[in-house]
Amino acid sequence: MVEVKDKISSEVLPLMEDFYTIQGEGFYQGHAAYFIRLGGCDVGCVWCDVKDSWDASAHPLLHVDEMCLRAKASGTQIVVITGGEPVMYDLSILTQRLKHSGLRTHIETSGVYPLSGTWDWVCLSPKKFKSPDATIFEQASELKIIVYNRSDFAWAEEHAEKVESSCHLFLQPEWSKEKEMLPLIIDYVKSNPKWQVSLQTHKYMNIP
Ligand code: SF4
Repeated sequence: MVEVKDKISSEVLPLMEDFYTIQGEGFYQGHAAYFIRLGGCDVGCVWCDVKDSWDASAHPLLHVDEMCLRAKASGTQIVVITGGEPVMYDLSILTQRLKHSGLRTHIETSGVYPLSGTWDWVCLSPKKFKSPDATIFEQASELKIIVYNRSDFAWAEEHAEKVESSCHLFLQPEWSKEKEMLPLIIDYVKSNPKWQVSLQTHKYMNIP
């Protein structure tokens, strides 16, 4: 995989796909949102469902102004920057232009590098395969832990101790393990109500 961090100007970024849909997960579940999926990820989750995103060089570079125009034209109020791993890039100019267009800026990240840009909402979803940067925890609006096996509950609690008390806490079953993990999550949330259940509802709705 090409090392792209620090090599790509923040005015152009590798775009894997962008689309207007319904946010399926987490705090903004059910809200219309425009997703900008940047290419490039060096985290390496074994269960990753967007492995095509990993190689940044496989995706065309697009100017952030064009990304803003497309998002604005959709009629959305919320833009979600996702990946891949979007914090591989300097997102200052992209978020500046989105906010200038009157759009809310949300990000979904595993937080493995320091966050750049101006954000209305930060969804931190740390992964076991690469530790988050220490600076990301105080910036998290929501902490979303993907539960793949039983040991992930203790791992979730370790991360919950690092975020601010205002941060919303979600446990979400990994899609291929949902039947096995969801009953455990339900029991866990009933016993530990500071957590909420998050489901990938877009997969039930058959939308991206
Ligand atoms: S951080 Fe996201 S894109 Fe990267 S490997 Fe993990 S699930 Fe896939």
